[in-house]
Amino acid sequence: MLPILDLKRSWKEIREDTLSKIAEVMDSQDFILGSEVGEFEREIESFLGGGHAVGCASGSDALVLALMALDLNPGDEVITTPFSFFATVSCITRLGLNPVFADVRPDTYNIDTDEVIKKITPRTKVFLPVHIFGQMTPIESIMPELNERGIKTIEDTAQSLGSYRLTNGSKDYAGAIGDIGVFSFFPTKNLGAAGDGGMMFTKSTEFGERLKKLRVHGAKKQYFHDEVGLNSRLDTLQAAILRIKLKKLEAWNKARREIARKYNELFKGKDLLEKVFIPAESQGNYHIYHQYVVKLNAPDGKRDELYHFLSEHGIGTKIYYPLSLHLQKCFEFIGGKAGDFPVCENLTKSVLALPIFPGLTENEQEFVVETISKFFKK
Ligand SMILES: *Cc1c(COP(=O)(O)O)cnc(C)c1O
Repeated sequence: MLPILDLKRSWKEIREDTLSKIAEVMDSQDFILGSEVGEFEREIESFLGGGHAVGCASGSDALVLALMALDLNPGDEVITTPFSFFATVSCITRLGLNPVFADVRPDTYNIDTDEVIKKITPRTKVFLPVHIFGQMTPIESIMPELNERGIKTIEDTAQSLGSYRLTNGSKDYAGAIGDIGVFSFFPTKNLGAAGDGGMMFTKSTEFGERLKKLRVHGAKKQYFHDEVGLNSRLDTLQAAILRIKLKKLEAWNKARREIARKYNELFKGKDLLEKVFIPAESQGNYHIYHQYVVKLNAPDGKRDELYHFLSEHGIGTKIYYPLSLHLQKCFEFIGGKAGDFPVCENLTKSVLALPIFPGLTENEQEFVVETISKFFKK
Protein backbone atom coordinates (compact mmCIF):
# COMPACT_ATOMS: atom_id res chain seq x y z
CA MET A 1 0.00 0.00 0.00
CA LEU A 2 1.37 3.40 -0.99
CA PRO A 3 -0.02 5.99 1.43
CA ILE A 4 -0.58 9.64 0.49
CA LEU A 5 1.94 10.51 3.21
CA ASP A 6 4.55 8.27 4.84
CA LEU A 7 6.21 10.12 7.71
CA LYS A 8 8.32 7.11 8.63
CA ARG A 9 10.68 7.73 5.73
CA SER A 10 11.88 11.16 6.82
CA TRP A 11 11.78 10.08 10.47
CA LYS A 12 14.73 7.77 9.73
CA GLU A 13 16.89 10.82 8.93
CA ILE A 14 16.32 12.47 12.30
CA ARG A 15 15.63 9.53 14.60
CA GLU A 16 18.88 9.51 16.58
CA ASP A 17 19.07 13.29 17.06
CA THR A 18 15.42 13.49 18.03
CA LEU A 19 15.50 10.67 20.56
CA SER A 20 18.50 12.12 22.36
CA LYS A 21 16.91 15.58 22.34
CA ILE A 22 13.71 14.19 23.82
CA ALA A 23 15.77 12.61 26.61
CA GLU A 24 17.45 15.97 27.22
CA VAL A 25 14.12 17.80 27.56
CA MET A 26 12.76 15.08 29.83
CA ASP A 27 15.83 15.36 32.03
CA SER A 28 15.33 19.12 32.25
CA GLN A 29 11.65 18.66 33.26
CA ASP A 30 11.03 22.09 31.77
CA PHE A 31 7.88 21.52 29.74
CA ILE A 32 6.04 24.79 29.19
CA LEU A 33 7.59 27.60 27.12
CA GLY A 34 11.07 26.33 27.98
CA SER A 35 14.27 27.62 26.40
CA GLU A 36 13.76 25.43 23.31
CA VAL A 37 10.63 27.43 22.49
CA GLY A 38 12.54 30.72 22.53
CA GLU A 39 15.36 29.21 20.45
CA PHE A 40 12.86 27.89 17.91
CA GLU A 41 11.10 31.26 17.74
CA ARG A 42 14.44 33.02 17.06
CA GLU A 43 15.19 30.48 14.31
CA ILE A 44 11.83 31.05 12.62
CA GLU A 45 12.41 34.81 12.85
CA SER A 46 15.73 34.53 11.06
CA PHE A 47 14.28 32.07 8.52
CA LEU A 48 11.60 34.63 7.63
CA GLY A 49 13.97 37.57 7.53
CA GLY A 50 13.53 39.15 10.96
CA GLY A 51 10.48 39.91 13.07
CA HIS A 52 8.68 38.45 16.06
CA ALA A 53 7.69 34.78 16.17
CA VAL A 54 5.33 33.62 18.88
CA GLY A 55 4.69 29.91 19.35
CA CYS A 56 1.28 28.56 20.35
CA ALA A 57 -0.65 25.32 20.64
CA SER A 58 -1.92 24.89 17.06
CA GLY A 59 -2.46 26.60 13.74
CA SER A 60 -6.16 26.93 14.59
CA ASP A 61 -5.28 28.78 17.82
CA ALA A 62 -2.77 30.93 15.94
CA LEU A 63 -5.58 32.13 13.67
CA VAL A 64 -7.83 32.98 16.63
CA LEU A 65 -5.00 34.74 18.50
CA ALA A 66 -4.02 36.73 15.39
CA LEU A 67 -7.58 38.02 14.97
CA MET A 68 -7.81 38.78 18.70
CA ALA A 69 -4.67 40.93 18.43
CA LEU A 70 -6.37 43.21 15.90
CA ASP A 71 -9.03 44.55 18.31
CA LEU A 72 -12.02 43.94 16.08
CA ASN A 73 -15.68 44.42 16.83
CA PRO A 74 -18.52 41.94 16.33
CA GLY A 75 -19.88 42.31 12.82
CA ASP A 76 -16.59 43.43 11.31
CA GLU A 77 -15.98 41.75 7.98
CA VAL A 78 -13.11 39.42 7.12
CA ILE A 79 -12.59 38.59 3.46
CA THR A 80 -11.38 35.03 2.94
CA THR A 81 -11.46 31.97 0.67
CA PRO A 82 -14.16 29.30 0.65
CA PHE A 83 -11.56 26.72 -0.46
CA SER A 84 -9.52 25.85 2.62
CA PHE A 85 -9.39 23.85 5.81
CA PHE A 86 -12.23 24.60 8.23
CA ALA A 87 -10.11 26.53 10.75
CA THR A 88 -9.63 29.40 8.29
CA VAL A 89 -13.26 30.39 8.76
CA SER A 90 -14.14 29.04 12.22
CA CYS A 91 -11.64 31.51 13.76
CA ILE A 92 -13.72 34.32 12.24
CA THR A 93 -17.17 33.20 13.34
CA ARG A 94 -15.90 32.14 16.78
CA LEU A 95 -15.04 35.79 17.48
CA GLY A 96 -18.39 37.08 16.24
CA LEU A 97 -16.89 38.46 13.02
CA ASN A 98 -18.47 38.06 9.60
CA PRO A 99 -16.72 36.00 6.95
CA VAL A 100 -17.10 37.40 3.44
CA PHE A 101 -16.00 34.95 0.78
CA ALA A 102 -14.27 35.71 -2.49
CA ASP A 103 -13.94 32.99 -5.12
CA VAL A 104 -10.64 31.28 -5.97
CA ARG A 105 -8.65 30.93 -9.18
CA PRO A 106 -9.18 27.79 -11.26
CA ASP A 107 -5.43 27.37 -11.92
CA THR A 108 -3.71 27.92 -8.54
CA TYR A 109 -6.76 27.31 -6.29
CA ASN A 110 -5.75 30.43 -4.31
CA ILE A 111 -8.12 33.33 -3.64
CA ASP A 112 -8.57 35.61 -6.65
CA THR A 113 -7.21 39.01 -5.64
CA ASP A 114 -9.46 40.81 -8.18
CA GLU A 115 -12.49 39.25 -6.44
CA VAL A 116 -11.13 40.37 -3.05
CA ILE A 117 -11.14 44.03 -4.11
CA LYS A 118 -14.76 43.70 -5.27
CA LYS A 119 -15.82 42.44 -1.84
CA ILE A 120 -14.49 45.40 0.16
CA THR A 121 -17.15 47.37 2.07
CA PRO A 122 -16.83 50.05 4.77
CA ARG A 123 -17.03 47.21 7.34
CA THR A 124 -14.09 45.25 5.92
CA LYS A 125 -11.36 45.12 8.56
CA VAL A 126 -9.29 42.06 7.65
CA PHE A 127 -8.13 40.15 4.60
CA LEU A 128 -7.35 36.50 5.41
CA PRO A 129 -5.80 34.74 2.41
CA VAL A 130 -4.64 31.11 2.54
CA HIS A 131 -1.52 30.03 0.67
CA ILE A 132 -3.06 26.77 -0.37
CA PHE A 133 -1.18 23.48 -0.97
CA GLY A 134 2.23 25.19 -0.68
CA GLN A 135 1.89 28.03 -3.15
CA MET A 136 1.73 31.69 -2.20
CA THR A 137 -1.15 33.95 -3.19
CA PRO A 138 0.21 37.06 -4.96
CA ILE A 139 -1.13 39.34 -2.24
CA GLU A 140 1.59 41.97 -2.74
CA SER A 141 -0.41 43.25 -5.73
CA ILE A 142 -3.29 44.39 -3.52
CA MET A 143 -1.47 45.16 -0.25
CA PRO A 144 -1.03 48.89 -1.05
CA GLU A 145 -4.76 49.29 -1.63
CA LEU A 146 -5.64 47.32 1.52
CA ASN A 147 -3.16 49.33 3.60
CA GLU A 148 -4.61 52.56 2.29
CA ARG A 149 -8.06 51.49 3.46
CA GLY A 150 -6.77 50.40 6.88
CA ILE A 151 -7.49 46.72 6.20
CA LYS A 152 -5.18 44.33 8.03
CA THR A 153 -3.86 41.13 6.46
CA ILE A 154 -3.50 37.80 8.24
CA GLU A 155 -1.83 35.15 6.09
CA ASP A 156 -2.90 31.56 6.74
CA THR A 157 0.45 29.94 5.99
CA ALA A 158 -0.34 26.57 7.60
CA GLN A 159 0.57 24.80 4.35
CA SER A 160 3.35 27.03 3.08
CA LEU A 161 6.27 27.55 5.47
CA GLY A 162 9.26 28.15 3.20
CA SER A 163 7.38 29.09 0.05
CA TYR A 164 8.02 32.52 -1.39
CA ARG A 165 7.46 34.84 -4.31
CA LEU A 166 10.20 36.63 -6.17
CA THR A 167 9.06 40.21 -6.59
CA ASN A 168 11.49 42.81 -7.90
CA GLY A 169 14.33 40.37 -7.31
CA SER A 170 13.66 39.94 -3.60
CA LYS A 171 12.13 36.94 -1.82
CA ASP A 172 8.79 37.61 -0.17
CA TYR A 173 8.23 34.70 2.19
CA ALA A 174 4.72 33.43 2.74
CA GLY A 175 3.55 34.57 6.16
CA ALA A 176 6.00 37.46 6.34
CA ILE A 177 4.42 40.21 4.26
CA GLY A 178 1.01 40.66 5.87
CA ASP A 179 0.45 42.04 9.37
CA ILE A 180 0.49 38.58 10.96
CA GLY A 181 1.44 35.23 9.43
CA VAL A 182 0.01 32.07 10.92
CA PHE A 183 1.70 28.65 10.80
CA SER A 184 0.74 25.12 11.83
CA PHE A 185 3.02 22.29 12.89
CA PHE A 186 0.32 19.61 12.69
CA PRO A 187 2.27 16.39 11.96
CA THR A 188 1.27 16.24 8.29
CA LYS A 189 2.48 19.77 7.43
CA ASN A 190 5.83 20.33 5.70
CA LEU A 191 7.28 21.12 9.13
CA GLY A 192 5.37 18.83 11.44
CA ALA A 193 5.64 18.25 15.19
CA ALA A 194 4.97 15.07 17.15
CA GLY A 195 1.57 16.43 18.06
CA ASP A 196 -0.06 19.84 17.76
CA GLY A 197 1.80 23.12 17.48
CA GLY A 198 1.45 26.54 15.88
CA MET A 199 3.16 29.89 15.42
CA MET A 200 2.38 33.53 14.72
CA PHE A 201 4.85 35.81 12.99
CA THR A 202 4.79 39.59 12.68
CA LYS A 203 7.17 42.40 11.83
CA SER A 204 5.33 44.69 14.29
CA THR A 205 6.76 44.87 17.81
CA GLU A 206 3.33 45.94 19.07
CA PHE A 207 1.54 42.88 17.62
CA GLY A 208 4.41 40.67 18.78
CA GLU A 209 4.01 41.82 22.40
CA ARG A 210 0.25 41.51 22.21
CA LEU A 211 0.38 37.95 20.84
CA LYS A 212 2.81 36.90 23.57
CA LYS A 213 0.37 38.17 26.14
CA LEU A 214 -2.71 36.68 24.51
CA ARG A 215 -1.24 33.14 24.50
CA VAL A 216 -0.86 33.18 28.31
CA HIS A 217 -4.38 34.23 29.33
CA GLY A 218 -3.73 37.89 28.53
CA ALA A 219 -1.18 38.36 31.31
CA LYS A 220 1.99 40.31 30.65
CA LYS A 221 2.97 39.79 34.27
CA GLN A 222 1.91 36.43 35.69
CA TYR A 223 -1.41 36.58 37.62
CA PHE A 224 -2.08 40.15 36.45
CA HIS A 225 -4.48 40.02 33.49
CA ASP A 226 -4.88 43.01 31.17
CA GLU A 227 -7.37 41.14 29.03
CA VAL A 228 -8.83 37.66 28.49
CA GLY A 229 -6.60 35.63 26.24
CA LEU A 230 -6.24 31.90 25.61
CA ASN A 231 -4.17 29.17 27.16
CA SER A 232 -2.24 28.31 24.02
CA ARG A 233 1.43 27.52 24.31
CA LEU A 234 3.94 25.56 22.29
CA ASP A 235 5.36 22.67 24.32
CA THR A 236 9.09 22.63 24.97
CA LEU A 237 9.21 19.05 23.65
CA GLN A 238 7.52 20.02 20.39
CA ALA A 239 9.80 23.02 19.93
CA ALA A 240 12.87 20.83 20.50
CA ILE A 241 11.67 18.33 17.88
CA LEU A 242 10.74 21.09 15.44
CA ARG A 243 14.20 22.67 15.74
CA ILE A 244 15.77 19.45 14.50
CA LYS A 245 13.31 19.23 11.61
CA LEU A 246 13.67 22.93 10.70
CA LYS A 247 17.27 22.23 9.69
CA LYS A 248 15.91 19.81 7.07
CA LEU A 249 12.99 21.92 5.88
CA GLU A 250 14.63 23.49 2.85
CA ALA A 251 16.02 20.15 1.64
CA TRP A 252 12.66 18.49 2.19
CA ASN A 253 10.80 21.26 0.36
CA LYS A 254 13.27 20.91 -2.49
CA ALA A 255 12.65 17.15 -2.58
CA ARG A 256 8.90 17.83 -2.84
CA ARG A 257 9.51 20.19 -5.77
CA GLU A 258 11.56 17.50 -7.48
CA ILE A 259 8.74 14.98 -6.96
CA ALA A 260 6.24 17.47 -8.43
CA ARG A 261 8.48 18.04 -11.44
CA LYS A 262 8.72 14.28 -11.99
CA TYR A 263 4.92 13.86 -11.77
CA ASN A 264 4.48 16.65 -14.34
CA GLU A 265 6.93 14.91 -16.66
CA LEU A 266 5.21 11.54 -16.24
CA PHE A 267 1.76 12.97 -16.96
CA LYS A 268 3.13 14.65 -20.06
CA GLY A 269 4.93 11.46 -21.14
CA LYS A 270 1.72 9.44 -20.84
CA ASP A 271 -0.18 12.01 -22.84
CA LEU A 272 -2.56 12.66 -19.95
CA LEU A 273 -2.53 16.44 -19.88
CA GLU A 274 -5.92 16.63 -21.62
CA LYS A 275 -7.48 14.59 -18.82
CA VAL A 276 -5.42 15.59 -15.80
CA PHE A 277 -4.80 19.26 -15.03
CA ILE A 278 -1.40 19.35 -13.29
CA PRO A 279 -0.66 21.99 -10.60
CA ALA A 280 0.03 25.44 -12.04
CA GLU A 281 3.02 27.24 -10.57
CA SER A 282 2.64 30.97 -11.21
CA GLN A 283 5.47 33.12 -12.46
CA GLY A 284 7.92 33.97 -9.67
CA ASN A 285 6.44 31.46 -7.21
CA TYR A 286 8.49 28.97 -5.21
CA HIS A 287 5.80 26.32 -4.63
CA ILE A 288 6.69 23.87 -1.87
CA TYR A 289 4.05 21.28 -2.76
CA HIS A 290 2.55 20.63 0.63
CA GLN A 291 0.16 18.74 -1.62
CA TYR A 292 0.38 17.78 -5.28
CA VAL A 293 -3.23 18.35 -6.30
CA VAL A 294 -4.46 17.50 -9.77
CA LYS A 295 -7.79 18.51 -11.25
CA LEU A 296 -9.75 16.21 -13.51
CA ASN A 297 -10.99 18.13 -16.47
CA ALA A 298 -14.45 16.67 -16.44
CA PRO A 299 -16.26 17.23 -13.16
CA ASP A 300 -18.66 14.43 -13.98
CA GLY A 301 -18.09 12.04 -11.12
CA LYS A 302 -14.89 10.62 -12.61
CA ARG A 303 -12.87 12.08 -9.74
CA ASP A 304 -14.61 9.89 -7.19
CA GLU A 305 -14.29 6.90 -9.52
CA LEU A 306 -10.56 7.54 -9.90
CA TYR A 307 -10.18 7.89 -6.13
CA HIS A 308 -11.71 4.42 -5.66
CA PHE A 309 -9.77 2.93 -8.56
CA LEU A 310 -6.46 4.13 -7.10
CA SER A 311 -7.44 2.87 -3.67
CA GLU A 312 -8.23 -0.58 -5.13
CA HIS A 313 -4.75 -0.55 -6.64
CA GLY A 314 -3.11 0.26 -3.30
CA ILE A 315 -2.62 4.01 -3.82
CA GLY A 316 -3.77 6.41 -1.13
CA THR A 317 -5.11 9.79 -2.31
CA LYS A 318 -7.20 12.46 -0.62
CA ILE A 319 -9.82 15.01 -1.54
CA TYR A 320 -8.88 18.46 -0.28
CA TYR A 321 -11.58 19.73 0.04
CA PRO A 322 -14.86 17.94 -0.67
CA LEU A 323 -17.19 20.73 0.52
CA SER A 324 -16.83 24.47 0.04
CA LEU A 325 -16.74 26.34 3.35
CA HIS A 326 -19.73 28.55 2.47
CA LEU A 327 -21.83 25.37 2.21
CA GLN A 328 -20.87 23.87 5.59
CA LYS A 329 -23.85 23.18 7.81
CA CYS A 330 -22.43 25.16 10.75
CA PHE A 331 -22.10 28.26 8.53
CA GLU A 332 -25.69 28.14 7.24
CA PHE A 333 -26.45 31.28 9.22
CA ILE A 334 -24.12 33.24 6.95
CA GLY A 335 -26.52 32.55 4.10
CA GLY A 336 -24.21 30.99 1.50
CA LYS A 337 -25.84 28.89 -1.19
CA ALA A 338 -24.83 26.55 -3.99
CA GLY A 339 -23.70 28.51 -7.02
CA ASP A 340 -22.29 31.46 -5.07
CA PHE A 341 -18.67 30.48 -5.73
CA PRO A 342 -18.66 28.42 -8.92
CA VAL A 343 -14.89 28.05 -9.26
CA CYS A 344 -14.50 26.75 -5.72
CA GLU A 345 -17.55 24.50 -5.99
CA ASN A 346 -16.18 23.03 -9.20
CA LEU A 347 -12.85 22.32 -7.48
CA THR A 348 -14.55 20.43 -4.66
CA LYS A 349 -15.87 18.05 -7.33
CA SER A 350 -12.72 17.73 -9.42
CA VAL A 351 -9.52 17.84 -7.32
CA LEU A 352 -7.46 14.93 -6.06
CA ALA A 353 -4.24 15.01 -3.99
CA LEU A 354 -1.64 12.39 -4.94
CA PRO A 355 1.07 10.90 -2.71
CA ILE A 356 3.89 13.37 -2.09
CA PHE A 357 6.49 13.35 0.71
CA PRO A 358 10.28 13.30 1.03
CA GLY A 359 11.41 9.74 0.34
CA LEU A 360 8.75 8.91 -2.28
CA THR A 361 10.57 6.99 -5.01
CA GLU A 362 10.46 7.46 -8.78
CA ASN A 363 9.21 3.89 -9.14
CA GLU A 364 6.29 4.67 -6.88
CA GLN A 365 5.51 7.82 -8.86
CA GLU A 366 5.60 5.83 -12.09
CA PHE A 367 3.20 3.33 -10.57
CA VAL A 368 0.79 6.15 -9.60
CA VAL A 369 0.77 7.70 -13.07
CA GLU A 370 0.67 4.29 -14.78
CA THR A 371 -2.41 3.40 -12.75
CA ILE A 372 -4.10 6.71 -13.59
CA SER A 373 -3.36 6.05 -17.25
CA LYS A 374 -4.93 2.59 -16.94
CA PHE A 375 -8.03 4.19 -15.41
CA PHE A 376 -8.55 6.42 -18.42
CA LYS A 377 -8.03 3.52 -20.85
CA LYS A 378 -10.53 1.15 -19.27
C1 LIG B 1 -3.73 22.71 9.04
C2 LIG B 1 -4.38 23.98 8.73
C3 LIG B 1 -4.86 24.84 9.73
C4 LIG B 1 -4.96 24.47 11.18
O1 LIG B 1 -3.82 24.03 11.78
P1 LIG B 1 -3.89 23.09 13.08
O2 LIG B 1 -2.49 23.16 13.59
O3 LIG B 1 -4.28 21.73 12.61
O4 LIG B 1 -4.86 23.67 14.02
C5 LIG B 1 -5.37 26.06 9.35
N1 LIG B 1 -5.43 26.43 8.06
C6 LIG B 1 -5.00 25.62 7.07
C7 LIG B 1 -5.08 26.09 5.65
C8 LIG B 1 -4.47 24.37 7.36
O5 LIG B 1 -4.08 23.56 6.37
